Amino acid sequence: MCNLRKNSRKMNFCPNCGSKLYEKTINDSLVKSCNTCEYIDWNNWVYVSCVIAAFTDDNEVLLVRLKGKEQGKLTFPGGYRDLGETLDQAAHREFYEETGMVVHNLELYKTFTKDEQRLIWIVYKGKVQKSEFVENKEVFEAIYIRNIKDIDCNDLRGKLTKALLIDLLS
Ligand SMILES: [Zn+2]
Repeated sequence: MCNLRKNSRKMNFCPNCGSKLYEKTINDSLVKSCNTCEYIDWNNWVYVSCVIAAFTDDNEVLLVRLKGKEQGKLTFPGGYRDLGETLDQAAHREFYEETGMVVHNLELYKTFTKDEQRLIWIVYKGKVQKSEFVENKEVFEAIYIRNIKDIDCNDLRGKLTKALLIDLLS
């Protein structure tokens, strides 16, 4: 799962056609709009990340331990939807990229919002068979936990990871 820039980036150019955006008031909202195409920046854009809570037959949930900047942190497999992908496709792809395993029976579970990162988590529940984890560029290992006490909470990546884990295991 890649990182998000912390601040909200100022949008000065149209993401569709690259023309300059101009401020304009629509329905009492100050927006930025493109005079070349019909793009309007409503200043409510978010990144969409598909996150997977994959359970084994023994009711353990799979977490991944990250490499890189957040070395050692635990979170759920997942990541950003690419343009053109469905959310389900993104969930399957991210799960496979981060674990080398295939998740089955994906069902939409719930969503979480974190405005300070302009982030929405689309959470799926799924089934996973314990099989060979494949180390990859983002993840060092996959672990399975049944109880939140099985891990050190300081290892959790962030507040959404913690909130989802508590939600699932309590
Ligand atoms: Zn445009």
